[in-house]
Amino acid sequence: MAIRKLRLEGDEILRKKSREVTVIDDKIKMILNDMVDTMYKNDGVGLAAPQIGLLKRLVVIDVGDEHVYKMINPKITASSGKELDQEGCLSVPEIKGDVLRPTNVTCVYTNENGEEITLQTEDHLLARCICHELDHLEGTLFIDKMKKQI
Ligand code: ZN
Repeated sequence: MAIRKLRLEGDEILRKKSREVTVIDDKIKMILNDMVDTMYKNDGVGLAAPQIGLLKRLVVIDVGDEHVYKMINPKITASSGKELDQEGCLSVPEIKGDVLRPTNVTCVYTNENGEEITLQTEDHLLARCICHELDHLEGTLFIDKMKKQI
């Protein structure tokens, strides 16, 4: 377990597309644990692997619902609703702004035990966070979608 160095906006790795994870080994599990540690250390609610300099489709999320999600190759398969709300990002520390996101999403991912999980969100913050983190895997930052800077 270790705290990893956060990559900040301007670092070109944040603009690259991440690759699928094909083998879930101890190294991947260690990266996920380091991502969780790094997220907590920086008071974040989510973190994607490019933010620690790795172009792998890995996301961790904890929005305070007593569940730490460790997602491998997550995909959004359905979404509904729309809500404009404030967002920030550990890689863009100086900026917060409103982003339009779905209020509910269905997310399919593989967990660290290799099981396929289908998560249907009810919590708007969780849906927002999943959308934000999955954007990171495509090289997209929330500031690209921001309506209004606060
Ligand atoms: Zn972010």
